[in-house]
Amino acid sequence: MQRITAIAALTTIMLSGAAQAAGESSMLTRLDREQARYAELALTIWDKAELGYVENDSSTLLQDTLAREGFTVETGVAGLPTAFVASYGSGKPVIGLLAEFDALPGISQTAAPVREAATDKHSGHACGHHLFGAGSVAAAVAVRHWMEENNVSGTVRLYGTPAEEGGSGKVYMVRAGLFEDVDSVLVWHPADRNQANPSTTLANKSAKFRFRGVSSHAAVAPERGRSALDGVEAMNMMANMLREHMPQEVRMHHVITSGGSAPNVVPDFAESFYYLRHPDAATLEELWARLVATAEGAAVGTGTEMSYEVIHGNHSVLANETLARAMHDRLQQVGGVQYSPSDLAFANTLAESLARSEGDLAAAAARIEPFAPSRSMGSTDVGDVSWVVPTTEMRAATWVPGTAPHTWQAIAAGGTDIGVKGMMVAAKTLALTAADLLQQPELLRAARSEFEQRRGADFTYRPLLGEREPPLDYRK
Ligand SMILES: [Zn+2]
Repeated sequence: MQRITAIAALTTIMLSGAAQAAGESSMLTRLDREQARYAELALTIWDKAELGYVENDSSTLLQDTLAREGFTVETGVAGLPTAFVASYGSGKPVIGLLAEFDALPGISQTAAPVREAATDKHSGHACGHHLFGAGSVAAAVAVRHWMEENNVSGTVRLYGTPAEEGGSGKVYMVRAGLFEDVDSVLVWHPADRNQANPSTTLANKSAKFRFRGVSSHAAVAPERGRSALDGVEAMNMMANMLREHMPQEVRMHHVITSGGSAPNVVPDFAESFYYLRHPDAATLEELWARLVATAEGAAVGTGTEMSYEVIHGNHSVLANETLARAMHDRLQQVGGVQYSPSDLAFANTLAESLARSEGDLAAAAARIEPFAPSRSMGSTDVGDVSWVVPTTEMRAATWVPGTAPHTWQAIAAGGTDIGVKGMMVAAKTLALTAADLLQQPELLRAARSEFEQRRGADFTYRPLLGEREPPLDYRK
């Protein structure tokens, strides 16, 4: 009797395994069938190249696509006009996907493999967020149909997250508690390679330091003036001395955003914009206090007044090996990006402008990087999400191998089939991994327990940007 029960149970498992595989293949078939639709969505957003917190059309395009597919869309969440949350299904588990869509200012490029600025705009998708947004939406829609066709319970939820580039959109969404009931979050990012690693980043905090002095004629009456630019310069000198006495993992960089306008007028206002990064948020806060002290000292010494405004703050990414492993297995199943002869011709021409040669570009785009922990010295607001929900992030080769983010070469490839093919690799991998999580409670439990362990028992989330309101006009 017992044996019969066992056999029956085994048969059920085998049957459900076969049904699962059939369901999955219909999910992949749907994504293949709808590639042109998502290509159009991504390339429309690429063309608009809207900046952080003013991505009105891009956000609406993504929302409309989801609404037409039966998602419930809540817009303007967390006080961010272009942020939204789109949900399908009900109850647990809740699987979150993130979609970015902001472009970068000051850089534009056509879809040509040689440098050719677009004449009609001064911004561009140099970080591929048009693909990021459209690819995640494609994955969410595929999962939603698969859930309906296979009677899978739970919720798939897509977060439309604006202003990743210096606006920390996700931090306000985390601060507003929008991720509180989510079991796991899956993310991807455009890149020059395919990988799904337990990777981390640096925590990052920025501020504008503003010095106010007294203007005067710089030759006739300098003794009556106090130069705000002196305040900026004194701070920069001390900050550079401080650099020697900081941990070596630090990244610190600045630009002078205002330094006066004529040498014969003593500037009464000057401003510099600093970024400070370190892997550990608590250490970053200690270093931050020392940086602020250089600004205070500079103001005392130059007879100026200083105030500063924290502009953004991102936690590091908390890696999750359990989720990364599940995603890596699915990425291997999906495979990398396959170049057509015209893709390869484009890639070879573009690669002539790159500093680093990657050899056989078709092979590099098709390759899946080995599974290994890694750290980027950059930062992302995905970090804050990863400290409140178990999260993992993959990369897909939407750019010609050897391309760095934030370059014209990234904009160029992102506007072609190469970008679209990389986006579809990501969409398929995200969809399959989400399906795993919706069907395997033990996988979610393992991811959660790793998350709790890495975070530590006494962890409480505090945003590095504090209580400030979103800088909705930072790109205006
Ligand atoms: Zn990015």
